[in-house]
Amino acid sequence: MINKLFKSLFFVFIISVLLTSCVDKKEVTSTSEEKNKSQQSEEIISEIQQRETFALNTIIKIQLHEAPEFSDQDWEQTFAILSDIEARMSAHIDTSEVSEINKNAGIQAVKVSDDVFNIIKRAKEVAEETDGAFDPTIGALTKLWQIGTEDEHVPSQKELDQAIKKVDYNKIILDEKTYEVFLEEDGMSIDLGGIAKGYSADEVFAFLKSKGVTRAILDFGGNIVVIGAKDEASDWRVGVRKPDRMQFSVFASFYANDEAVVSSGDYERFFEEDGVIYHHIINPFTGYPTDNGIRGASVILKSSMQADAYATALIVMGKEKAIDFIQKKGLEAALIYSDMSSFHTFEDERDFRLEK
Ligand code: ADP
Ligand code: MG
Repeated sequence: MINKLFKSLFFVFIISVLLTSCVDKKEVTSTSEEKNKSQQSEEIISEIQQRETFALNTIIKIQLHEAPEFSDQDWEQTFAILSDIEARMSAHIDTSEVSEINKNAGIQAVKVSDDVFNIIKRAKEVAEETDGAFDPTIGALTKLWQIGTEDEHVPSQKELDQAIKKVDYNKIILDEKTYEVFLEEDGMSIDLGGIAKGYSADEVFAFLKSKGVTRAILDFGGNIVVIGAKDEASDWRVGVRKPDRMQFSVFASFYANDEAVVSSGDYERFFEEDGVIYHHIINPFTGYPTDNGIRGASVILKSSMQADAYATALIVMGKEKAIDFIQKKGLEAALIYSDMSSFHTFEDERDFRLEK
């Protein structure tokens, strides 16, 4: 219990440090009178407007640096995007569309909404591209480990062996005409935890842009999306966390502009049993958390959803395959290894700098 509390406090700390390392500290607290006034004008203001919420199992922090003044209603609309995605896509919510698909595994196809269909389709494509390093049917395994819940524990080898057989993206049957999803085998389970946060950041990005936001930072845990540049003179300087479970520090930083920087790592969620640490990125072939020398991976792309799935996949692949994949795809990505050495393919203009 104390351990859990510590972990969540620690997480809050990480987020705030990461953001303060990126931005000025000027903040706006507006009165309701001011808000009413602002609803009538679309004047762009450059004071920071900032809100936080908890969704998709993560602290979500949004800072608008150049935007029309946001009313409470605008913020509600922004956060409703997240709660709506979570309500339909979470495998942990019994009434979600994903849970409906899972309950009907081996029984029948389930009709889902357009975006649930499309995200599963994209997840399956990434599984194909990554030879199953990223596999959205990882649910059979993640529901055994239950990492991040009160019931997290090391499953028995027998349970793991049985669950591995139920992880196979080829057995997700998608009907493009009816928007139905069918899991061919009983016991299969979709878990979009490695991609849904990225998707939701893309959706919020599009919404904020449609509202006239021209400079902003979206911090969805390891998923950072920046809108525009920091100011006329400079792009955003984004920091990547050092893979250290005990304390926060910035490992490296680089410039980004109007794009997503998504990081995955074995330090995000974990638990300890009998002196061994188990984390939340699972190798679909062994059933265990990865342990291959890659501690963290970051990917820069326009699509946060794509970057999210790739970052998870790179951690699973191991060094050789990950580098091969990055090069083959021409990805801008970074890998951080157990000995704290690193590899990256970021463009020179990003000014990638290791912090000390
Ligand atoms: P985070 O959610 O901490 O940002 P990731 O994007 O790497 O980290 O996602 C980890 C989540 O993805 C896990 O909690 C689990 O739900 C899911 N997952 C774990 N292993 C895999 C895998 N091999 N393929 C696809 N999804 C995975
Ligand atoms: Mg991911």
